[in-house]
Amino acid sequence: MKNDTKRLLDWYDAERRILPWREDPTPYHVWLSEIMLQQTRVEAVKEYYARFLEALPDVAALAAADEDTYLKLWEGLGYYSRVRNLHKAAVTVMEDYGGEIPGTAKELRKLSGIGEYTAAAIASIAFGEPVSSVDGNLLRVFARRTMYRESVKDPAAKKAAYDYFMERMPEDRPGDYNQALMDLGATVCLPNGEPECFRCPWADLCAAHEQGAELEVPVVPAKKARRVEHRNVYRLHCGNELLLSKRPDTGLLAGLYEYPNDLKPGDHTARSAAGKREAKELLDAFLEAHGLTPVSVFPLPAARHIFSHVEWHMTGFDVEVESLDSVRETAPLLVVSLADLDRYSIPAAFDAYKY
Ligand code: SF4
Repeated sequence: MKNDTKRLLDWYDAERRILPWREDPTPYHVWLSEIMLQQTRVEAVKEYYARFLEALPDVAALAAADEDTYLKLWEGLGYYSRVRNLHKAAVTVMEDYGGEIPGTAKELRKLSGIGEYTAAAIASIAFGEPVSSVDGNLLRVFARRTMYRESVKDPAAKKAAYDYFMERMPEDRPGDYNQALMDLGATVCLPNGEPECFRCPWADLCAAHEQGAELEVPVVPAKKARRVEHRNVYRLHCGNELLLSKRPDTGLLAGLYEYPNDLKPGDHTARSAAGKREAKELLDAFLEAHGLTPVSVFPLPAARHIFSHVEWHMTGFDVEVESLDSVRETAPLLVVSLADLDRYSIPAAFDAYKY
């Protein structure tokens, strides 16, 4: 074993993060945690992970679960295609692999939602396959350690990092090696601001540290600006009932429930006079188109939600209507009892307008 590998593993043995999925790293546990950890912070995942496992403790239970059940368990985590793919892959595991999660990165990649990184993480941690799981953390550590000056968004960077770490991969502890690098990237070789090199087991081997150039790498090209959408959101209710809408089965927030909303044609901010006028006109048009008569209308505070490629700037209205009868059979609209509201998965984008 190379000396720097040993040093990293010794550091990991002493400093590793204690995480629920690491304590019992079955293939299902590792797989579920890796999917949840994509785009989501470790701290936020812990609670969801425990809740998900309690409801769906193994791959057979996940495969047998209905859509509303697994979407509800994912509610608030965002990027819902992750759980749809997880479910689809669980069905494949039951049907094509006799209920056994495949044990190599190559086979794992054939399952929905499992890309190169996730396949390598599961294969190395749960099955001991020596394969490097290169993600943003590992790329950053690699770029600093070697003073890699090309863009890390370029596929060549991933290949270079993969080769670099594979050369140092210990045959007997591939999962720990990958997790040690993940921990190093997440807790010491930090992404934003100064890394804590004084705590790094590689401080005297690191090119960036030697040159005092830790903040010059990794090189990341500037991101494109997100598209902004101005939306009107309606919290429409009557007595003990509320109006929801089901989103289409594909695209952003596919298949989830939402408060009915409209895309505003203009780009006026919610607070401008033109923005307020436009919002009210859209609300009136919505009510008229659906045969709804308002009893009271209250504006709700403006809210924002940021997705990866789009930002919603929302204007909300609380509207009590005389009756919801005109929209009872008009899918995708759906009249629900307030007592049952918890059963519907409503994405966090609408948190500001929750009833
Ligand atoms: S010495 Fe500093 S910059 Fe280099 S790998 Fe360690 S934490 Fe990162």
